[in-house]
Amino acid sequence: MKRKDFLKKSALGITGAALLANTSACKNEAAVPLVNMHSNTVFNWRMTTVWGKNFPVFGESCNLFAEWVGKMSGGRLNIKVFGAGELAPGLQTFYTTSVGTTEMGAGGAYYWQGIAPAAPFFTAVPFGMNAQQILAWLIGGDREGYELWKEVYAPFDLIPLLAGNTGVQMGGWFNKEINKATDLQGLKMRIPGLAGKVIEKAGGAAITVPGGEIYTNLERGVIDATEWVGPYHDYKLGLNKAAKYYYTPGWHETGSQLEFIVNKKAHDSLPADLQEILFTASLRVQAWVLAEFDAQNGAYLEKILDSGTEVRRFPKEVLDVLREKTDEVLAELTESDPMAKKVYNSYNAFRKKINKWSELTEKAFYNDIQK
Ligand code: CA
Repeated sequence: MKRKDFLKKSALGITGAALLANTSACKNEAAVPLVNMHSNTVFNWRMTTVWGKNFPVFGESCNLFAEWVGKMSGGRLNIKVFGAGELAPGLQTFYTTSVGTTEMGAGGAYYWQGIAPAAPFFTAVPFGMNAQQILAWLIGGDREGYELWKEVYAPFDLIPLLAGNTGVQMGGWFNKEINKATDLQGLKMRIPGLAGKVIEKAGGAAITVPGGEIYTNLERGVIDATEWVGPYHDYKLGLNKAAKYYYTPGWHETGSQLEFIVNKKAHDSLPADLQEILFTASLRVQAWVLAEFDAQNGAYLEKILDSGTEVRRFPKEVLDVLREKTDEVLAELTESDPMAKKVYNSYNAFRKKINKWSELTEKAFYNDIQK
């Protein structure tokens, strides 16, 4: 769908929501407290997702969210989760929830980059912050990141909620050695989004391959390399059987933040306690997802190493070139969209401050204490 059409449809949605919100506001002026007035109302919601149904961690976390919200609300808010393609194609999650066909959606903000250019900052930008730093930007201090995220989604009648973080991902699977920056030239790599643009600027080709076809394409040499997630998901996809080298670090996804999105009209129709339950359950998901990724990745890394995979580090020279190209890609992005510029400025300013602190603590821990 064209952006213009989407905005037009979204604008209609906003008008509708505004009218409804006003009506509710009048009703709420009655003497009965909001929570009591609605205490017996049962809400049955639907959540559409970009993930396959029950997909490890990503899909599972949506099921857990629904379960926790159901329990916390004593059955007053029931959320039925749909995998990609069940109600709508995965990549229509944003639109479907924006127009209110579903009350909720789940995915990652960078999927909506074509609609909202600032969106990638709420999932992952190459050479960005890590999970801990992103969380601090989002909900620590003045909640600067989260407030901006809400601002970016407001025109689409959506409210974002946190839904976990993958932690630093792996750099990917390669059948070509990357020893110097020129080795990136002609490299055919499956790597989406902004990172794909970075690879192209470095002389490679970013190839789009659906998840289900990555293994075959890599094994047959249609692509030389692919990124995916980390040991847990990569092992399940069999990537250790299709490529020789497992490169680190994941410069392109240094801590990918996941999201739930809530249709604003649906959100506004809830009593205040259920709104709090949504937010609280989302924070529980935030904690669980990162913990699950770390626990499973640790276990599956052993399996991958046992299978004979060679782990390699990207040479500094290669990372320096990728960082330089990233700066160019981000400059182009932020010059073309004022909102992206505003978010980027906040993200960068926060990163500069927190980097000094991380340097003295987290980095010192990894360098000097961890054995
Ligand atoms: Ca990835």
